Amino acid sequence: MQTSFSSDFIKSKDGERVNEILRSCVHCGFCNATCPTYQLTGDELDGPRGRIYLIKNFFEEQSKQDNDSTSNNEIGLKHIDRCLTCLSCETTCPSGVKYGELVDIGRKHINSNVKRNLLDKLKRKLIINFLSNPKKSSFVFALARMAKPFLPSHLAKKVPAKTKQLNQPEFNCKNPKKRTLTIAGCVQAATAPQINQAAKKALAKSNIQCDDSGSKCCGALAFHLTDLDNAYATIRSNIDEWYEKLSVNYDNLIITSSGCSSFIKQYVTIMQDDSNYADKAKHISERCLDLAELAPELNIEKTNSPDKIIAFHSPCTLQHVQKIKGSIENKLTDAGFQLVEVHNSHICCGSAGSYSLLEPELSTQLLNNKISELERNQPDVIVTANIGCLMHLQSASKVAVKHWAELLV
Ligand code: SF4
Ligand code: SF4
Repeated sequence: MQTSFSSDFIKSKDGERVNEILRSCVHCGFCNATCPTYQLTGDELDGPRGRIYLIKNFFEEQSKQDNDSTSNNEIGLKHIDRCLTCLSCETTCPSGVKYGELVDIGRKHINSNVKRNLLDKLKRKLIINFLSNPKKSSFVFALARMAKPFLPSHLAKKVPAKTKQLNQPEFNCKNPKKRTLTIAGCVQAATAPQINQAAKKALAKSNIQCDDSGSKCCGALAFHLTDLDNAYATIRSNIDEWYEKLSVNYDNLIITSSGCSSFIKQYVTIMQDDSNYADKAKHISERCLDLAELAPELNIEKTNSPDKIIAFHSPCTLQHVQKIKGSIENKLTDAGFQLVEVHNSHICCGSAGSYSLLEPELSTQLLNNKISELERNQPDVIVTANIGCLMHLQSASKVAVKHWAELLV
């Protein structure tokens, strides 16, 4: 793809990278075939190739300092907002176009050049303030449970059930082959603390010690909503806390939610220009593992559960972002579960962080399509690997939805 940016822009860090990525795109459009939003709307601007053009046009107009570009920028923002950042397009692209990196840079610049309406700004602020903090999100979910009868149905379905108070036994290994650290997460800590308990128990049975580093948000919510000051503050605070531990006492940081593990692996890129944090961020990203990467090491017993028929939903952050495929499915099969075939398993369920709250129409269509594919072969349980997908699927599923670690113990 040819570009015509000003030399000043190309000399900037973001400009250099944008130019490089755009030039790798041969605008063949193969990516449109696997893009969930393009499949729903059929609009070129709701597909990756159209979004790539929108980002290119935005930076070209900025380079020309074109004052008439405001309405184009608003159109650009609308279609970029509708992107799930599922990266199905990256998996499909034969030219290796780094769409995820391009859209992150595009979002950052377009967002600061286009005024959002007040309601949109308010929703974004509330999501970041309340959902990225476990105490606040517990409070919001408790309020939502009280208000559930009065909420519109699409929101009422999303209110999670009250979580049971858990005994929090320690699972200590005498001579562990590995020492690992985990985080309880933000929304996961408030809605499904049993997932980390199950993971810790499964790890301990395999002689892998897993200790808690508290309830922390990884920063993904704020980053993807382009509240970058907030996101960078969270990332720096996490690095300050984990770097020392991961340098001295622990081999790895194990994350049970694939959205969070993907984002922590991105710290290395996000912090590369921060001279105080770049090396530490690299250290942490390199030591971060999704629990799925430890699946082959887990010693498991054959299940005696009566619910053996499983439909597995692989989150986009697992299959497209981290390119982890097959390890969970193999482990569940080894444990005696029977996995049914799921058509269109590469397509996003519509959860995508806060997408279901900000783009409810597209998100609901994707959810309904996903549920009908997952329920087609009448599974006993739907299983996934990311808290966002789990809660989203739960809001529409007739059968139980669980994290795969819960099936191992
Ligand atoms: S498949 Fe890749 S090269 Fe082709 S249009 Fe999409 S991003 Fe560009
Ligand atoms: S990230 Fe997903 S929704 Fe966005 S353009 Fe790529 S395939 Fe489409």
